[in-house]
Amino acid sequence: MRPQEILLPAAAGLCCKPGGFHIDPVRPVERAVITHGHSDHARAGHGAVLATQETLDMMRLRYGENFAGSTQVIRYGEEIRLGDVRVKFHPAGHVLGSAQIAVTCKDTCIVASGDYKDALDPTCTPFELVPCDVFITEATFGLPVFRHGDAADEVKKLLASVALFPERAHLVGAYSLGKAQRVIALLRRAGYDAPIYLHGAMEKITSYYQSRGIELGELRPAAGMKKAALAGTITLAPPSATSDIWARRFPDPVTAFASGWMRVRARARQGGVELPLVISDHADWDGLTTTIAATGAGEIWVTHGQEDALVHWCRSKGLKAQPLDLVGYGDEEESETPDAGETEA
Ligand SMILES: [Zn+2]
Repeated sequence: MRPQEILLPAAAGLCCKPGGFHIDPVRPVERAVITHGHSDHARAGHGAVLATQETLDMMRLRYGENFAGSTQVIRYGEEIRLGDVRVKFHPAGHVLGSAQIAVTCKDTCIVASGDYKDALDPTCTPFELVPCDVFITEATFGLPVFRHGDAADEVKKLLASVALFPERAHLVGAYSLGKAQRVIALLRRAGYDAPIYLHGAMEKITSYYQSRGIELGELRPAAGMKKAALAGTITLAPPSATSDIWARRFPDPVTAFASGWMRVRARARQGGVELPLVISDHADWDGLTTTIAATGAGEIWVTHGQEDALVHWCRSKGLKAQPLDLVGYGDEEESETPDAGETEA
């Protein structure tokens, strides 16, 4: 069976005709199958939604109880029949509950990986390699210049700065869903056991992570704290808040930003970031190319990000490759740089 008969880009997103559903649709559809809880992939207003428990819970937190007509939970490794295809979820290692979706029709298997990373993350199930015929990959950091390095080393940089400036507060800009909790977990792994402070916009999702058994230690709201009491502390906030009036409550803050984009010095400078931390929830160039090769797929479809270099790389390795022109997937790290508006509630 030709893969295009199974999955095809459409205006609403990736459409599976024989299965009667869309993957991560960007506009309301009858049946949606959703990879993870970031708002560009998980939108409200669909008839039926199939996703992991965590993704459904995150949608509920963001949009309220009635975010979809009906919902169905699927576990990692579980297989469900939809129309003429079989659908199976596998961990994507991107954020809590994130999944790659394997769609099999007759003997052809396509894996839509959504957003993924192969790096260590104590806050979610590790990425699982799924052999397939066609692998659909993101390309957020699809250029050889992007090499994220070890996130633990970046957290050591943060702790060294805290030790160096005990009279200053450290404000770490991090995306509210996933990145913030990962930075906290990495700080704990590095032995930091003081309370960590949170911007109000992160409290709900962070306590959700804790309710799912993710150990984050003692967390406190930054709101209501006296300025002097915040000296020597670490606060996590949405990136836009770190350059906001909100930041004035902190004593002489060191502004940090945890993002894969911090590899690009000009970006850090533009955003007024004093302490760039290269920590990303997306695979870097090596992660993308290693994963693509390891799936054994003969055909690669590349979506949302820097498609060209990755398509070129695939072809140079003798793989069939094409960009998928899907619109509506902003990279969450891209859309939340310090100088962009904060949209996450
Ligand atoms: Zn994402």
